[in-house]
Amino acid sequence: MVEQRDILQTPIEYLKGVGPKRAEVLQKEFDIRTFDDLLHYFPYRHIDKSHVYHVTDIVEDGSYIQLRGRISGAQVVGQQRAKRLTAQFTDETGSIDLVWFNGIKWVQELLQKKQEYIIFGKPTVFNGRWNMTHPEMIDPYAQNESPVPMRFMPLYNTSDIAKKKTLDSKAIAKLTANLLPVVKEVIQETLPDDMLNNLKLMPLKEALANIHYPENNQQLSRAALRLKFDELFFTQLKMLLMKQINMQQIPGHRFGKVGDYFNTFYKNHLPFELTNAQKRVIKEIRADLGSGHQMNRLLQGDVGSGKTIIALFIMLIAKDNGFQACLMAPTEILATQHYEKISKQVAPLGLRVEFLSGSTKAAKRRQIHEGLRNGDVDILIGTHALIEDEVQFQNLGLVVIDEQHRFGVEQRAKLWRKNTTPPHVLVMTATPIPRTLAMTLYGDLDVSVIDELPQGRKPIVTKHLYEKDRAALFGFMQKQIEQGRQVFMVYPLIKESEKTDLLDLMAGYESIERAFPPPKYGIGVVHGKMKPEDKDFEMQRFSKNQSQILLSTTVIEVGIDVPNATVMVIENAERFGLSQLHQLRGRVGRGGNQSYCILMSKYELSSEGRKRLDAMVSTNDGFEIANFDLQLRGPGDIQGTQQSGMLDFKIADIVKDEKLVAYTRNLAAQVLDNDPGLRRPEHRRLAENVAKLFKGEVNWSVIS
Ligand code: ADP
Ligand code: MG
Repeated sequence: MVEQRDILQTPIEYLKGVGPKRAEVLQKEFDIRTFDDLLHYFPYRHIDKSHVYHVTDIVEDGSYIQLRGRISGAQVVGQQRAKRLTAQFTDETGSIDLVWFNGIKWVQELLQKKQEYIIFGKPTVFNGRWNMTHPEMIDPYAQNESPVPMRFMPLYNTSDIAKKKTLDSKAIAKLTANLLPVVKEVIQETLPDDMLNNLKLMPLKEALANIHYPENNQQLSRAALRLKFDELFFTQLKMLLMKQINMQQIPGHRFGKVGDYFNTFYKNHLPFELTNAQKRVIKEIRADLGSGHQMNRLLQGDVGSGKTIIALFIMLIAKDNGFQACLMAPTEILATQHYEKISKQVAPLGLRVEFLSGSTKAAKRRQIHEGLRNGDVDILIGTHALIEDEVQFQNLGLVVIDEQHRFGVEQRAKLWRKNTTPPHVLVMTATPIPRTLAMTLYGDLDVSVIDELPQGRKPIVTKHLYEKDRAALFGFMQKQIEQGRQVFMVYPLIKESEKTDLLDLMAGYESIERAFPPPKYGIGVVHGKMKPEDKDFEMQRFSKNQSQILLSTTVIEVGIDVPNATVMVIENAERFGLSQLHQLRGRVGRGGNQSYCILMSKYELSSEGRKRLDAMVSTNDGFEIANFDLQLRGPGDIQGTQQSGMLDFKIADIVKDEKLVAYTRNLAAQVLDNDPGLRRPEHRRLAENVAKLFKGEVNWSVIS
C-alpha cells in the first residue's frame, strides 16, 4: 500500500512528457504537483469524435464537430496582417469555408494533395456562410494520427501563460493519456464493495479513467456521477463527524437553569409577544445549553423575523448561570444599534453592557478590558474588535455572531479560545441559505429556523420604476412623509469607483434637497467614507425621526432597525445582487404600517439584471430569493462562501446536484448512526479516506 501511494504522490515532473520546465508551469498555473493532482484535473468537456456530421446538419451551438469531405477551392485574400487563406470544404450535402490566418504556406501545401480529410473545429456563421477557423485536419488514411483512440476527446481548462509554454488543452490531454496507464492500477477504492453494488456506482478506478477518456456518453456520465458522489458523500461524512466530535469531545458549560434575569425580562420587560417560531427556537437553544456539550448552532431567519431578541434571551440565560456573553456584528452601525437597543432593554435588570469597536478610544478600551477580565462587564457588544487577542474575559460562556456570512470559519474558531472550556456559539444569519448550501456549508452546525414573521406585519409592496416615473416617486414619498413616515434611499457602491459613487450620492442629495426643501424636511446622508461618529450622528437623527429621508450607500444594508421607515428606494437597483436587494428591502416593513420597496433602474437591463428585479417584485420570501440567487449566480458567488473552501468541488455542483447533496447527506448520517466511529471492518475504506480528508485537522478517531 505504501508503494502504491507513492506512485500517486510522484512529482509531476517525472511523468513522461513533462520534465522540470513543464512541471513548473503545471504547478504555477494549475496547482498540479503530483500524479494524483493531474489525475484529478478533470476535463470541463468532451468532444465527440465518434460522430461525423454533414454540412446540412450543422447548428450553431458552440460545439466542435467533425466533417468528412474534400477541398474544392482556395484563395488568399487580404493584405499583410489581414492576409488569410480561405478554402471551400465540400461533402455530399454542401460546403463551408475554412479560414487560416497563419501557417498559410503550410496549409497551401496540404491542400495540394486534393485528398479526403476529416476536419475538426467549431463552425460559426460569417457573412451568411458556415465558417470554420483553423480547423484540425486529419488524414483518415494516415496511421497513428493520435496517441490514443480519441472517440471522446477531453478538453482541459488552460491559461494564456500555459498555452505560451505549449501546455494547451491538447498537450494536457496527452499528459493524462500518459498518466492513466501508470496509475490506474494503484487507485484505491474509497467506498465499500457493498455500497458500490447497492448503489450501482462505477468503481473509482474506472471513474477516474473514464472521466478523462470515456468510451461513450453513458460511461462519461456514470464516471461523473461516481466522482460527484465521492465529493459530496465524503464532505457530508466529514461534516457529520465534526459534529459528533463537537458533541462528544468538546465539553461545554452547562447552563442548567433559567433564572431571574431571563424570567424578569420575560415577564416584565418584553415589549411584545414572542412568535411561536421564536419560542420554539429558544427552546431548542436551551436544550443545547443545558446538555453539557458545546453548542454550535446556526439560527436562520429572514430579515425582520426577530433574531435579536433571541440573542438577548440567551445572553440572559448565560448571565443566569454566572457567565459573560458577547454579541458580535459585522458593521459598526449595526453593532452600535444592537448596543443601544440591548443596553436600554436590560437597564432595569442592572446588567453592565459595554460596546467595543475599532474606534473605541484607548482609555475607554482599557476600562472595558479590565471590566471584562474582572467580570464586571456582563455583556459585550461590538464588531470584530471583540476577537482580538487582548480582549479577555473572566468567564465567557456564550458568543452570538450576527450576520454570519461576513465572518470566516477561522474567526469563529478564534472565539472558541476565549475560555478554557469553549463558549457556546450561536450564529445568526438573515441571508436565507438554500437547504443544500446550508447542509454543505454549515453541516457541522445544528440549525434552527425562524419561519414566521411577527404578527401584524404587512407584506412589503415592491415596485420596479424607471427614471420617467421619478416625479411620481417623489410625490409618493411626500405623501408618506406627510403621514409621518420615513424614507431610505440607497445608492450602489462599487469599490473600484468609490469617487463616482459618492458623486452619484451627492447628485442624488441635491435633487432630493430641491424636491424636499429643508427645513420642512430633514435629509440625512450616510456613506462609508464618513467617520464613525458622524455616521452615528446621522443614524441617530434618522431613528429619532429628526430626518425623514436618509440617503446612503450600502452601509445600511445590514440590520438597521427603524420601524417608522416605510419606504425603501433603491437607485440603480440593477447594480445590486439579489440577496443584497432583499436585505435592503428588509429595512422597511418592521412596524405596523404598509411598507414599500421601490427599485429604480434604467431602461436597458441585462437579462440577468431584469431577472433579479423581476424576482424581487414577485416574492417577499427570502428563501425563494436565495434559491433564485443560487440559480442565477451559482454557489461560488454566494457571499461568504468563497473563502470557506467548503464549496471547492472539482466536479459536483451543489445547485445542479441538489438531489445528490441531500441523498449523500442522508446516507452519511445513516452510516454514522450504525457505526459512529467507522470502526466496522466493512467501513475500513471510509475510515481511511476520511482520515486522509482530515489531514490531522481533528483527531476524529476518538469518537466512540
Ligand atoms: P432580524 O431578524 O432581521 O434581526 P430584528 O431582531 O431586528 O430582526 O427584529 C425586527 C423588528 O421586529 C424589531 O423592531 C423587533 O423589535 C421586532 N420584533 C421582534 N420580535 C417581535 C415579535 N415577536 N413581535 C413583534 N415585534 C417583534
Ligand atoms: Mg438583525
